[in-house]
Amino acid sequence: MTRTLVTGAGGFIGHWLTSYLRSRGYWVRGVDLVHPEYEPGKANEFEILDLRSMDACLRATRGIDEVYALASDMGGMGFISGNHSQIAFNNTMIDFQTLEAARVNRVRRFLYTSTACVYPEYLQLSAGAAPLKESDVYPAQPQDAYGWEKLTMERLCEHYRDDYGIETRLVRFHNIFGPLGTWRGGREKVPAALCQKVAMAKLTGDPRVESWGDGEQTRSFCYIEDCVEGLHLLMRSSWRDPLNLGQDRMISINGLCDIVAEIAGIRVEKVHVPGPQGVRGRNSDNTLLRQALGWSPSIPLEDGLARTYAWIEKQVAEARATAAA
Ligand code: NAD
Repeated sequence: MTRTLVTGAGGFIGHWLTSYLRSRGYWVRGVDLVHPEYEPGKANEFEILDLRSMDACLRATRGIDEVYALASDMGGMGFISGNHSQIAFNNTMIDFQTLEAARVNRVRRFLYTSTACVYPEYLQLSAGAAPLKESDVYPAQPQDAYGWEKLTMERLCEHYRDDYGIETRLVRFHNIFGPLGTWRGGREKVPAALCQKVAMAKLTGDPRVESWGDGEQTRSFCYIEDCVEGLHLLMRSSWRDPLNLGQDRMISINGLCDIVAEIAGIRVEKVHVPGPQGVRGRNSDNTLLRQALGWSPSIPLEDGLARTYAWIEKQVAEARATAAA
């Protein structure tokens, strides 16, 4: 039985991935600073470790065949645009030492979760910007420290592969969303934030829903079940170069808000307020993904949002009931 380590297994994608790997018969060790927040974790073994230390990384990777490296100090635009030093320092410590520990402990495969934030800002200046191909990443100009650190770690993985023979896999996520993800507290990302605001509008009867900027900035959004299936396929494949993992349907934040409101069955009044918006337009070019894996995400945005909204509306209602008690 393959012995697998999922770092960041207390987080959103790591928790879903752990459940997926367990359902496929893998033995899984989960590691994180925290346990999964919304339901019990499914890992065979779960250790609370701070992966900024080499000792912790060596402990996490002992006896492991394959690593899915997801641990990261991250959040939505509000968090990423305001915490550059913290993000660069913490994530460099986690990433570099997890990879080095994997080498020391003779891990065979190491999958690193990078991000669409590695792509240069100059290619994402308009809402209708062309979909991003993997080769677009150079000349490099990520917008934030978060993207610079991820790009540096991608390079380190490639060097470890060439110098030490560790089989590395590199995935660039484009906005993964779904139930069981952070929906409040400042680290939530836009789909969860909009679901939470629309649920509040529905439960309070106040139709105002705030979003940052004019709401015409664009992104693509990928449902979590597609994400974990893609991660597993990539790990099993022989593809070694960086690969996008996301949907290639571009939609504005206003458009996303309209879909959520329709799912909730209410009319909302969009209120545009100043705030960090990230790049103006971003979409994934999935040509290479289809070529490499013979697969691409297929769960429609509306279906994924309906499942996510239902879960978040329940969280919001429960939180309100607790606060009122
Ligand atoms: P998440 O914040 O839910 O999970 C990350 C986990 O890492 C958290 O549970 C956190 O406690 C843990 N962590 C942070 N510092 C740690 C440390 N020092 N030691 C051990 N664990 C630590 O985020 P997520 O959405 O599940 O993202 C998983 C990975 O995917 C991250 O590497 C992230 O950068 C990447 N990513 C995610 C998205 C997305 O849309 N969710 C997009 C691009 C890239």
